[in-house]
Amino acid sequence: MKVLIVEDEPKLAAFVKKGLEEQSWEVDVAFDGQMGSSLALSNHYDVIVLDVNLPKINGFELANLLRRENLRTPILMLTALGTINDKISGFDAGADDYLVKPFEFQELIVRLRALQKRNSESGPVTNLLKIADLELDLNERIARRGGNRIELTAKEFGLLEYFIRNKGRVVSRVDIAEKVWDIHFDTGTNTIDVYVNFLRKKIDKEFEHKLIHTVVGMGYIMKEFQ
Ligand code: CA
Repeated sequence: MKVLIVEDEPKLAAFVKKGLEEQSWEVDVAFDGQMGSSLALSNHYDVIVLDVNLPKINGFELANLLRRENLRTPILMLTALGTINDKISGFDAGADDYLVKPFEFQELIVRLRALQKRNSESGPVTNLLKIADLELDLNERIARRGGNRIELTAKEFGLLEYFIRNKGRVVSRVDIAEKVWDIHFDTGTNTIDVYVNFLRKKIDKEFEHKLIHTVVGMGYIMKEFQ
C-alpha cells in the first residue's frame, strides 16, 4: 500500500507518516499543493491524504485538478474545517472521504483501508477520454462510438487522443504535426489532412452528429455542438 500525504504542517505530516509506516505502508509527503499535484500525477498511489489549507494550491482545488486529469485514486480529506459546507465542498471537488482534525489515528487507518479496498474491488482503473458518445480507452487502446468499437491504427489513435484532449479548441496542422507526429517543421504536404480524413471516415462518417470540424484557414476543432 502506497500513500501520498499532502500536508503543510511538518509535525502532523511526520506523525501521520510514521504511523502509516508502522503499518508497513510506503509513504510520500508533499508540503504544498503544487508538490502534491506533481507527485500524484507522476506516481501510483493507492490512496491520497489531503489537507485543505495548503500553500500554492489548496486541497479543494487540488482534488478538483486531479479528477480533471482523470486520476481516480481515492482521496481522503483531512482538515480542521468541519462544517457540513466544508464537507460538501470536499466531496464536490472529488474527495471520497473526509476526516476532521483532531482525529484518532486508528480511525484514519480504518478509513484508508476501506478506501483502498473499495478501489481495488472496483477493478482495474480505467482511463477514459470522452466527447459526446465517443470514448477512448487509453489503457486498452480502444475507441468506441455509440458503444461500438472502432478499429484505429496507432497514428489514428494518437490523432484522436490529441483532438479529444484539446476538444473545444482550434488546433492547427502545425500543432498536430508537432504533437502527434513529432515533426518540427512545415512539411508542406497534406499528410495531416489525409490522416484527419481517415479518422473522419471512421468516427464521423456514419454518424449524423459530426465531431471533427474544419476551421478554414486555421485547422480543425473537435466539438460536440456546432
Ligand atoms: Ca494546512
